[in-house]
Amino acid sequence: MDEGEHAPNGTDPGDADESPVLDTDPVAPGADDQIPRDDAVDASDSNASDSNASDSNASTDPTGVDSTGTEGSATEPTDTTVTTDSEDGVEARSRDRSSPGVDFDGVVLDDEDNQGLFDDLLAGEPIFENKEVLRPSYTPHELPHRTDQINRMATILVSALRGETPSNILIYGKTGTGKTASAKFVSQELESTSKKYDVPCEVEYINCEVTDTQYRVLAQLANTFIEKNQAVIDRRLDRLRELASSASDDPTALESTRFASPEELTATIEQLEADAEEMEPVPMTGWPTDRVYTTFFDAVDYHERVVVIMLDEIDKLVEKSGDDTLYNLSRMNSELDNSRISIMGISNDLKFTDFLDPRVKSSLGEEEIVFPPYDANQLRDILQHRADISFKTDALTDDVIPLCAAFAAQEHGDARRALDLLRTAGELAERSQAEVVAESHVRQAQDKIELDRVVEVVRTLPTQSKIVLFAVILLEKNGVHNINTGEVFNIYKRLCEEIDADVLTQRRVTDLISELDMLGIVNAVVVSKGRYGRTKEMGLSVPIEETEAVLLSDSRLGDIENAQPFVQARFDN
Ligand code: ADP
Ligand code: MG
Repeated sequence: MDEGEHAPNGTDPGDADESPVLDTDPVAPGADDQIPRDDAVDASDSNASDSNASDSNASTDPTGVDSTGTEGSATEPTDTTVTTDSEDGVEARSRDRSSPGVDFDGVVLDDEDNQGLFDDLLAGEPIFENKEVLRPSYTPHELPHRTDQINRMATILVSALRGETPSNILIYGKTGTGKTASAKFVSQELESTSKKYDVPCEVEYINCEVTDTQYRVLAQLANTFIEKNQAVIDRRLDRLRELASSASDDPTALESTRFASPEELTATIEQLEADAEEMEPVPMTGWPTDRVYTTFFDAVDYHERVVVIMLDEIDKLVEKSGDDTLYNLSRMNSELDNSRISIMGISNDLKFTDFLDPRVKSSLGEEEIVFPPYDANQLRDILQHRADISFKTDALTDDVIPLCAAFAAQEHGDARRALDLLRTAGELAERSQAEVVAESHVRQAQDKIELDRVVEVVRTLPTQSKIVLFAVILLEKNGVHNINTGEVFNIYKRLCEEIDADVLTQRRVTDLISELDMLGIVNAVVVSKGRYGRTKEMGLSVPIEETEAVLLSDSRLGDIENAQPFVQARFDN
């Protein structure tokens, strides 16, 4: 094992002192979940990002509460860093890099030094060292605050390295709690250790959000194992054909082998060729499911091995296609001759086992591991680890990481959100040509991410919901307050007629309004109208202009924009 910090067995002494900080962070008591305000940080204290700490688990307290922990770092105050960039000699005359917005015209036309359009943007690159490290696709080698979960997985899966079948595992936790990252980390370690000791243990990772039907899951598994088997067969065939050719020159060549005669060797070669021939890959659609299943079964059982199948986002699979896949996979072991499989399911939904057949539920949940949400302190550690490799030294002011952590802690402790915030804040700083990422960039990033979320939700709404939403927008734009369902329905009907869409019943429209409410796009309350019954009153809870722009960009809504005058005419009357 290379010096990864999570040894599968907890006995590696390096594991103990290197293990990520768990609840040992004594700094910033009570700072949890509080958004630091603008004035919480002293600007002169901005060098806590200890550049020489190789592995800063014990990162200095970035809130600036700690006044002692800055030894060894340079002491220049933040504002002097504005000039440090000129030492690369790119530009002698000083330029205000912190001015917001890039004046492209100015960059091109003003240039006496023969600087191109991009030179100015490239010069210095004061912010990022490696932005990829902050992207979701990056698998970190260190996962602070997940040592317990990782060790538990490893303790269960180590049986695979002994040729035994590990218990099935179910992993639960909200999004962004490190489930996928931890599972991938463990699977990499497992596979590398199995190679090292030459034990046949393989891990198959499937993201069920993408591969979301039984057919696709089984087809992907079948094809992966067919490919692996073919590689094994090819290697054996190469060796045997070589042996056959030397045996044809020199009959003694077979003496030390298990082949008594050249005929036996030829028969083995032919058998292998037939095996390879028989392994027909599963097409992406079209076969009956049991044929796909049998193909996978035969492929995985072709030779001895232990296979761990990781089904990430397993709740999406069950939601979309039921639990047949899990049922079939979980009873395979009793029929396999050479191989064994173990299932590791990962779910964002804590209650998804409620929908499972009891047999599947008990088999799948032999072991359960929970990934709790991170608190603000833990998020800070995670961000600090990544920031150390992704940003240039001193590129962040002290309040940036605590603020990202605090925002993300409010967002159910989502590390993905925390990393998105940090990356977006860095990009905004970079774009405004600031020298450092500051708190204001984090706040802008928070707004941007929130808006992006809204835009995405609105963009992916079904057409009918979009029309309903558009009706609400038109009403708001015409100054209607406490919009009621009847008003929405009238405009909705009119819009549908204008763009030739089907008109749903008022009841269905009311349902769509409830959905929009649940998505946080409108805010609806039920009000009683006395003997006239009850109605819903609503208002838009997202920015009106951006939302309208997203709706208008949908070609399915046709020329809904042209329908507006008709609608407005109603108000004018
Ligand atoms: P989940 O699968 O639970 O939704 P992920 O494993 O995808 O969450 O984590 C979300 C993001 O946060 C990823 O970029 C991941 O690398 C990062 N992350 C989560 N937990 C940690 C941790 N303990 N240390 C470092 N990075 C983490
Ligand atoms: Mg995940």
